[in-house]
Amino acid sequence: MTAKNDNGNNATTKYGYITSDSTKVIDVVCKMNIYRITAKYSSEYNGTTYYFCGLGCKNKFDANPGNYLTLPVANFSSNVTKGDSPLTVQFNDSSTNATKWAWDFGDGGNSTVQNPVYTYNKNGKFNVTLTVKNGKGNDTITKYNYITVDSATVKDLVCGMIIDKSTALTWEYKGTTYYFCREECKEEFEKNPEKYISS
Ligand SMILES: [Zn+2]
Ligand SMILES: [Zn+2]
Repeated sequence: MTAKNDNGNNATTKYGYITSDSTKVIDVVCKMNIYRITAKYSSEYNGTTYYFCGLGCKNKFDANPGNYLTLPVANFSSNVTKGDSPLTVQFNDSSTNATKWAWDFGDGGNSTVQNPVYTYNKNGKFNVTLTVKNGKGNDTITKYNYITVDSATVKDLVCGMIIDKSTALTWEYKGTTYYFCREECKEEFEKNPEKYISS
């Protein structure tokens, strides 16, 4: 698809090219949304590249970059915060004025993508930290124990076998789900749950 942008230049929309690392950026002078891959005008400032709709905006920025930049504010959310291992999480950046992203997922993993998809393979509770930057400065937010990854396996309390939680043989008792390897174990548990829970 080809369209004209405000300058009368051809702006190509590359469908399928838009990844989780957004290709759209904001021209900090006129606040217009532009495509980074087709932007003809850009400036480097404090290690960050800024893109502009036209030469007029670039010239204004170059004359006094500080006028157009505000400190970034870090924030994020995710589609899930809890689940069984392996747990795949889509993180969503909701920071303002950021041009660079650095994620620490709390289990040793990290990413510089704006909206990363990350898979946790270890069980536990993990702090997630996002640091965002622009030419003016940076900001960091840490959400403590943000992600909880549970084991995908559990012990059948009757026979002691380690089984997958995907089994259909489950029983709810006092708000907790119990899992069994076979019907006989489940029936045994139902007769006297306290005996198995306390042992
Ligand atoms: Zn502009
Ligand atoms: Zn069993």
